[in-house]
Amino acid sequence: MSEIRHNWTKDEILRIYNKPLMDLLYEAATIHRKYHDPNTIQVSTLISVKTGGCSEDCGYCAQAARYHTHVEAEGLLTVPQVKAQALRAKSAGSSRVCMGAAWRNVKDGPEFDQVLEMVRTINKLDMEVCCTLGMITENQAQRLSEAGLYAYNHNLDTSEEYYKEVISTRGYEDRLQTIENVRKTNITVCSGGIIGMGESVEDRASMLVSLSTLYPQPESVPINALVAVEGTPLEDQKPVEIWEMIRMIATTRIVMPTTQIRLSAGRTHISREGQAMCFFAGANSIFAGDKLLTTPNPDIAEDMRMFEILGMRPQKPFETHPQPQTIEAEDSQYPSLGEKPKWSRPSHKIERNEKARIKKEKIS
Ligand code: SF4
Repeated sequence: MSEIRHNWTKDEILRIYNKPLMDLLYEAATIHRKYHDPNTIQVSTLISVKTGGCSEDCGYCAQAARYHTHVEAEGLLTVPQVKAQALRAKSAGSSRVCMGAAWRNVKDGPEFDQVLEMVRTINKLDMEVCCTLGMITENQAQRLSEAGLYAYNHNLDTSEEYYKEVISTRGYEDRLQTIENVRKTNITVCSGGIIGMGESVEDRASMLVSLSTLYPQPESVPINALVAVEGTPLEDQKPVEIWEMIRMIATTRIVMPTTQIRLSAGRTHISREGQAMCFFAGANSIFAGDKLLTTPNPDIAEDMRMFEILGMRPQKPFETHPQPQTIEAEDSQYPSLGEKPKWSRPSHKIERNEKARIKKEKIS
């Protein structure tokens, strides 16, 4: 029942997702205990190193330049700014820093060099370093690996079938290509999705097929509940019910037994009791800090109090994979190629949020 399989079908996953809840929870918790310490939790802190002004049209995202949201664009942070935030996260109990930049894809040049320096700096603080920078080439992945990157995040977001309803400025196959490029290095893969974007349960199962049939399966899978942001095309979506989150997490645990499953965006809407059920169902990682890029998140002190109540221990860095070595820029085997990769731009267009645009124009 709990061997690692790479041939899950959508029907099998749907049957798991739709089981009576008590049966689903029992099966997921049993598998979880076989592969993980159920009382250990990995804590990550997300730092937005470059905020807003993004050229993409992800329908859920407050950082897309084309929508009219509360987010003001900011340039790339400096290395000392990021180091200071990482040190604060470390002293609050985080073992991992995830740096997010609102880019479509990485471009070779001074900004990427600056991100590489951030990776070197944080790895030297003995923290796990993750980046989410958009699409990357194999050479760019190798350069991140040399700098000491522990994980690269690139979410599939939803099913391949539903993807074009949410994002039209890039294709699903480009997501998979980026994951493949990361896999050619020693960097671990973090890839998951968002529920509550209007997708069907079949779409959720289909996304889990895409993730679980990757070889190897991602080391980390974030499961996000949509935080509907005013001004985005998905602003009117109803919040996801806790039962849907629990079912999604339990199903993910059953089909990807060894993966760390991260309870990500949307936690502010989940009670402590609800979060405890998500941990029982197999979630063993969270994002900490009062902001997730641009959306609210519980305060880390509150999370630590919750762990105390639940008798859970924050995981130390590098408990599951060894710390990568940092190679300095001058010793790099992978010089910048100055590539201009042709990532796809499908023709489908997401409706711009006209309602929000008109509202904003009236206010200003
Ligand atoms: S999710 Fe990322 S790529 Fe998409 S609009 Fe937001 S910042 Fe850009």
